[in-house]
Amino acid sequence: MIREYGVHLKGGIIAQRDADYCTIRLRLPAGILDTARMLGIAKIADTYGSGTVHLTTRQTIEIPDIHHLDLEEVTDALQANGTPVGAETDEVVNIIACPGTARCKYANIDSISLAQRVDEKVFGKQVPVKVRISISACPYACTSPLFNEIGVIGRIEPLREPGLCTGCGTCAEYCKECAIIIKNGVSVLDSEKCIMCGVCIHSCPFDLLKSKHLHSLITVGGRRGRHPQMGRELVAVETEDEAVEIIDRIVAWVRRRAWSGRLLADQLDDLQFEQFKADIISDLEK
Ligand code: SF4
Ligand code: SF4
Ligand code: SF4
Repeated sequence: MIREYGVHLKGGIIAQRDADYCTIRLRLPAGILDTARMLGIAKIADTYGSGTVHLTTRQTIEIPDIHHLDLEEVTDALQANGTPVGAETDEVVNIIACPGTARCKYANIDSISLAQRVDEKVFGKQVPVKVRISISACPYACTSPLFNEIGVIGRIEPLREPGLCTGCGTCAEYCKECAIIIKNGVSVLDSEKCIMCGVCIHSCPFDLLKSKHLHSLITVGGRRGRHPQMGRELVAVETEDEAVEIIDRIVAWVRRRAWSGRLLADQLDDLQFEQFKADIISDLEK
């Protein structure tokens, strides 16, 4: 059988200090793993490694101390286990996400579903500069999306319906941004301060707070590391399909237009960001 050429060169294969051994990083979108696959990973780590694993900051698992002569066998075993080799170098690396609507009471979007769809679309694509993608289902931003090359934040706008506001102040109490004040006996929203977290919406005992414009804010060009920088707001989209499409377009742009050796954030500084934005969001409805 002709083997896949270059398993040793995959980004998820990381050289160790002892050159005979390497660490294998896995592909685990949103860090979701059922117990059967966990047991499979444990068995592989016991059989080929040193019986340990390392949990990474990007919600994946590394299996250390794999001898280079075992690499092809181990990658086959990982593939069969449903936990294939991941990415690390100039590629789209493991997509991370918070629990989202599946579990978190603050969530505005299904971040895990989005992460899995984005993974299917762009994971592992080779690009001139590493692309990290992080999805948070609300502006609490637990997965630090603003410090990734591509970030997604689920948001929702509150809306006070005309009605008998008692001025009880419950909504103002819940808002951590001090974006609601009680004026002349009724609640008034300061949209400049509102970060669209949606926390206030369920707080009103009289059900006067509604919501509009549930959306995903997509940011680009963030980074962490030696010189952290926050990503810039690119576009707000209302559907999961649109979010996947925009992320796919950004990755395609990076593949074609970015160059190696410099972080994406620096490259965006040199380019006309508004032109980049226009290129990415053009014809979104098509
Ligand atoms: S980012 Fe928001 S929705 Fe996600 S886990 Fe944190 S608080 Fe919950
Ligand atoms: S959406 Fe969040 S920030 Fe905006 S008013 Fe409500 S609680 Fe405050
Ligand atoms: S919680 Fe409802 S009734 Fe109370 S101040 Fe806010 S909008 Fe008015």
